[in-house]
Amino acid sequence: MPCRTCGGKGFFFWDENIIAECGDCDNMETRIVRFQAYQDQAVLTAMYEDDFYPIASLMIEAGELADLFVKPLLRGDPIPDPEGFRGRIISEAGDVLWNLAVLLDDNGISLEEVANYNIHKLERRLKNGTILGNGDR
Ligand SMILES: [Zn+2]
Repeated sequence: MPCRTCGGKGFFFWDENIIAECGDCDNMETRIVRFQAYQDQAVLTAMYEDDFYPIASLMIEAGELADLFVKPLLRGDPIPDPEGFRGRIISEAGDVLWNLAVLLDDNGISLEEVANYNIHKLERRLKNGTILGNGDR
C-alpha cells in the first residue's frame, strides 16, 4: 500500500509495525501490516468451488456470532460458563474472519488494505470529531 501523501512505497516503522514514516516524504501514518500472513494461510484452506460460498458463509457465521449474545439476552439466560463462552466467541469470530479473508482474496483485496482503509477512516473521524456519526466514508 503506497504512502497516502506522496505514493511512495518505502516505509520505516517506529514501533510494533503500527506507526510508519514514509522514506520519500516523511509522512507518518498508521499502517497495519500483520494481516497478510493470516490471509495467506486462510486461502490455503479454501476448498469451496462455488464463488458464492464465502459471502453466504460469512452471513451465516456472523449470525452464529451474534446468536451467542442475542439468544441469552432474549431469553434472559445467564451466561453459564464464562470461559466456555469466551472460547465460543473466539471460534465464531474466527469463522467470520476466515470467510472475510477468502472473500476479499477472491476479489483481489487484502485484509491489510481493508484494515488500513478502516483505521485511517476512523482516525479522520476522531480528528474531525465525527467518530459517532456515519456521514463520511
Ligand atoms: Zn510519502
